Amino acid sequence: MSNTQHPPFLPRANPPTWLGVMGGGQLGRMFAHAAQAMGYKVAVLEPSLECPAGQVAERLVNADYTDNVALGQLAALCSAVTTEFENVPADSMNLLAQGSFVAPAGNCVAIAQDRVLEKRFFVDCAPQSGVMPAPHKVIASFEDIEAIDDDLLPGILKTVRMGYDGKGQVRVKSREDVRAAFEAMGQVTCLLEKMLPLAYEVSVLTARGVDGASVVYPIAENVHRDGILFTTTVPGPNVSSECARKAQDAARAIVAQLGYVGVLCIEFFVLEDGSLVVNEMAPRPHNSGHYTIDACVTSQFAQQVRAMARLPLGDCRQHSPAVMLNILGDVWFDGDSADAKPREPAWDHVLALPGAFLHLYGKDDPRRGRKMGHVTFVAPTLAEAQEQLRAACAILGIAP
Ligand code: ATP
Ligand code: MG
Repeated sequence: MSNTQHPPFLPRANPPTWLGVMGGGQLGRMFAHAAQAMGYKVAVLEPSLECPAGQVAERLVNADYTDNVALGQLAALCSAVTTEFENVPADSMNLLAQGSFVAPAGNCVAIAQDRVLEKRFFVDCAPQSGVMPAPHKVIASFEDIEAIDDDLLPGILKTVRMGYDGKGQVRVKSREDVRAAFEAMGQVTCLLEKMLPLAYEVSVLTARGVDGASVVYPIAENVHRDGILFTTTVPGPNVSSECARKAQDAARAIVAQLGYVGVLCIEFFVLEDGSLVVNEMAPRPHNSGHYTIDACVTSQFAQQVRAMARLPLGDCRQHSPAVMLNILGDVWFDGDSADAKPREPAWDHVLALPGAFLHLYGKDDPRRGRKMGHVTFVAPTLAEAQEQLRAACAILGIAP
């Protein structure tokens, strides 16, 4: 698939011009930090007034993501615009592209936010990437459920759009379960995926410039809890060099095949027999890439700035083993009681641990399950970084 929206030779967007970002969450905030460190000014388009990125950007365009007037203003102000969330309306990215340089392009965003298009793309790309997605079937009607191949069960029924952090997913054992889940989800189009025997999960961050040059970060090993990323460890303790090479080669092929410009994160499953399966991709920096801020020469956010500004991409080299721990709102509360009052966690104790980097996203309303920040531990050896992770979990009252 070639990308016609990006003419090959565009002038670079040099600082101190404006860079724009769709979305005001923590990814936008860390993008703003990286852009500002390089001397850019940052504009955020976001419908809510109080948001992590709005607190740090030079300008907050307070509007809906589909507000044409606001999109026009953002495009006129900025020499390039990107997105910090996967579900940004692809049409809004296309509209922005009429007045500014947009990366990633609307057509790439459209594929990543629709599980059917995404799976089809992975299948089409398999000859180049060498990896296939999980066996699957689109479920759009009760007739589709009748036609399910027995081999797809047990499986996971996922909504085609708007799924994240495990939301919009139901585990199903039988055709009857699929019917009930499809009904419960309001009969929206879903994808049934075969439940695979996962050994562990990995992700690969990659970035590609408008000139077609691409870079690939080291492979990251991810542990989820309750459907939310819990830790990312790099280098992954379970990852063989062959698995790393395969995943990185696949990432290079996928990003090239998409004609992608910007930062893309691809999630893979490693099965019990060692084989690699591609799960999904995010057209933006990713939670599993936060470790790059403190452990790599170029962070994923600095890379996002470079790609959208048509600057040379940065060195992905990791200079220290690292473990990233997500900080959820739960650590503001003692125990499980529903009416508990939040209190500030003991950051001073966490920061007393060697190699700790604390990142909080400026959210003043801690809620259970809400991503409030993360801590990355870097150390001369992975074992030391893992030791600091265990110590931090003890301080914060998180089961290790
Ligand atoms: P996120 O936004 O956190 O990446 P998501 O809601 O988009 O998640 P997936 O990544 O597809 O959804 O699935 C969430 C988790 O469910 C996976 O990380 C994996 O642990 C498990 N899972 C998903 N699909 C399968 C599968 N086919 N077989 C086994 N486990 C699966
Ligand atoms: Mg996922």
